[in-house]
Amino acid sequence: MPTVPQGGKVLVSGANGYIAMWTVKILLERGYRVRGIVRSADKGKFMSDYFAKLGYAEAFEFAIVEDIVKEGAFDEVVKDVDAIEHMASPFHFNVSDPQGKSLKFFKPAIQGTVGILKSAVKNAARVKRIVITSSCASVLTPGLSVPKVFSENDWNEASPKEVEELGSKSPGASIYRASKTLAEKAAWEFYNQHKSQVHWDLAVINPPFVFGPAIHDVTSLKSLNTSLQSWYDVVVSDSPKTKEVLLQTIAWVDVRDTALAHVLAIEKEAAGGERIITTSGSSIWQEWIDAANSLNPNPLPSHKLAVGLPEISRGEKVYLISYDKSKEERLLGIKFNTIVETTKATLEDFARRGW
Ligand code: NDP
Repeated sequence: MPTVPQGGKVLVSGANGYIAMWTVKILLERGYRVRGIVRSADKGKFMSDYFAKLGYAEAFEFAIVEDIVKEGAFDEVVKDVDAIEHMASPFHFNVSDPQGKSLKFFKPAIQGTVGILKSAVKNAARVKRIVITSSCASVLTPGLSVPKVFSENDWNEASPKEVEELGSKSPGASIYRASKTLAEKAAWEFYNQHKSQVHWDLAVINPPFVFGPAIHDVTSLKSLNTSLQSWYDVVVSDSPKTKEVLLQTIAWVDVRDTALAHVLAIEKEAAGGERIITTSGSSIWQEWIDAANSLNPNPLPSHKLAVGLPEISRGEKVYLISYDKSKEERLLGIKFNTIVETTKATLEDFARRGW
């Protein structure tokens, strides 16, 4: 499958999100034109203004798709693009699920994903590659008691089963994980059924927890995206932290590296047909607190940073979940940010925002 031409136009759905804004930025910096899909004009305007200030007024445009679940929602916007990055999907754990079917999550996650692929089958004569943002949530098995290294061969079969069994009593995290698993499976199934009809192929990026500075429209701590909110709560806020939380395994990746992975996935021919885990590595929360406290001067001087239980880091650390990085190294070869680099950039970002 030919790769996307330099200077080609890339469609990015969920373009105003945390990871997507960085992806759009890197695409523009590398000479692509971008059409960002957002749900409302104000979200598009934020993006246009942001990228115009960086000199990309001509190269960036936005289009509104109010409801990604609607049949044919993407039919028009895919028409003249060379590649698609499908990133729109709900990501939070506060799901109230009165019907017990997780529809608020499953519909946009699954139908949104299959919908953009359907539109690409019908209308996207120029598209060479479609990249879908899945997650390590569709790879891992939750609730392990012994460490395991996961690879792209693994699927999270447990969360969809759990949600099916528990219905409205399912924990929010399980619903989110199930939504990612089902959406990714649906994407591969759809692609495999239609690949003889299309001139594009599919690549999937599977990141674990994503941290790092934000450039999307966040006006308050309350509107932080889910992963960065968790990071703030542990590393910055003075809320009490239990030993259990501080020891929790956090496989992670910097948001800028995640975005780069999405861009490389349209540039590297060998990424076609692959799901690719993109991770910096595994950690426990205490290591993030230690990293923050190792920075001198403190990049967020308005706060006395959390200290946690530093003795935890001096003992042997157990990472219950880690990921095989060999496919990413072979196909994309990203030089990932370290915990200290990501921590510094994130705290500096919070300081700029006056948090
Ligand atoms: P954000 O919440 O910042 O962005 C989510 C994007 O998806 C926003 O543009 C949002 O639009 C859009 N979206 C959410 N729900 C819907 C819906 N029902 N219909 C249409 N659009 C919707 O999250 P992230 O940037 O963190 O996540 C982006 C992608 O990356 C998601 O697919 C997520 O599952 C995946 N991911 C994230 C990880 C992380 O740690 N952050 C880890 C692994 C995967 P709007 O602003 O209008 O709500």
